[in-house]
Amino acid sequence: MHNSFKPQNRILMGPGPSNVHPKVLEALSKAPLGHLDPQFIELMDDIKLLLKYTFKTESDATFVISGPGSLGMEASLVNLIEHGDKIIVCVGGYFANRMTQIVEKIGGQVVVVKETWGRAIDPQKLEDALKQNPDTKVVAFVHAETSTGALSNIKLLSEIAHKHNCLVVADTVTSLGTTEIYVDQWDLDAVYSCSQKGLSCTAGMSPITFSERAVHHIKKRKTPVQSWFNDLNLLLGYWSGTDKRIYHHTAPSNQFYGLHEALLILKDEGIENAWRRHKENSGKFISKLKQIGLEPLVPEGERIPNLTAVKVPEGIDEAKARSELLNKHNLEIGAGLGELAGKIWRIGLMGYNSNEKMIEFCISALKDVLKK
Ligand SMILES: *Cc1c(COP(=O)(O)O)cnc(C)c1O
Repeated sequence: MHNSFKPQNRILMGPGPSNVHPKVLEALSKAPLGHLDPQFIELMDDIKLLLKYTFKTESDATFVISGPGSLGMEASLVNLIEHGDKIIVCVGGYFANRMTQIVEKIGGQVVVVKETWGRAIDPQKLEDALKQNPDTKVVAFVHAETSTGALSNIKLLSEIAHKHNCLVVADTVTSLGTTEIYVDQWDLDAVYSCSQKGLSCTAGMSPITFSERAVHHIKKRKTPVQSWFNDLNLLLGYWSGTDKRIYHHTAPSNQFYGLHEALLILKDEGIENAWRRHKENSGKFISKLKQIGLEPLVPEGERIPNLTAVKVPEGIDEAKARSELLNKHNLEIGAGLGELAGKIWRIGLMGYNSNEKMIEFCISALKDVLKK
């Protein structure tokens, strides 16, 4: 006998997904609309406006890719890069490494600026790499490297890249809505994010924005974009234009409702207030972690405010502790990835979950599991 699926109502304090606001859940369950319904086009236009606010950009090439953050990553890279182009990727963790894999698949020539996992990218290393590789076309980096907990100064990295006439791709999958981002002021050319981390919606939507310079570059490509789904020229046919929208794919309307509601909640709070809330709660959380003997991996000043990586204490079976948190306390936190597997836990206080109640809950659950 089959029964309807009833998921546990988990407390999601890993690196994403995070818990969603009840209003977002409600929005997700409304009646679907056709992807060219006039009311749906209005919703798309409002999502665009809310995203411009969230990204701090005036660019009209601001919209959503119907897919997870990884699809936004691929969209940014595949549109800007042509076969044979030289690309510098700043790699200090698992997600930046994924960027190099995508560039290789496109046939780009990857130069890696390597950083220690758990540290912000050293701008001097990028400067040196650009001097050694003056033919570089694009520089790509991750703002908040969720695999390590380190936040890089992408304003500075972007400045250096532009000084060497490169376009800039920035991953803001974990930082959008939680950490200061000024896409226009920082001169970022292609920026993508996701719906399920700082924005506290369900997974499967990737907000994205391209600068005017990037759009111009894409229009002037010598070779066609090596992806049908992610070709900006086709996507903009669906996302812009006052009279006629061109069908691209069947937009998952309910996902759009959820994202719209999540963006509205953020706008109502005020994005600067949300940034401040995440920063303050991160400070409180880390001081309480230290009180129970847990040390952050990342040095002060380089930490992501909505995701803390802590070192697993000596003598603790980290997988067993996580499964006890899940089974006894209904709490999900994240494990280490790649070279940090088994060495750290990653704990998220994102969007809806960034509050004192969640801090207290998580600290007491950790205390209980660690005392044995
Ligand atoms: C989670 C994450 C991704 C991938 O996003 P998905 O929505 O899982 O595809 C990419 N980059 C960073 C920095 C992430 O944290």
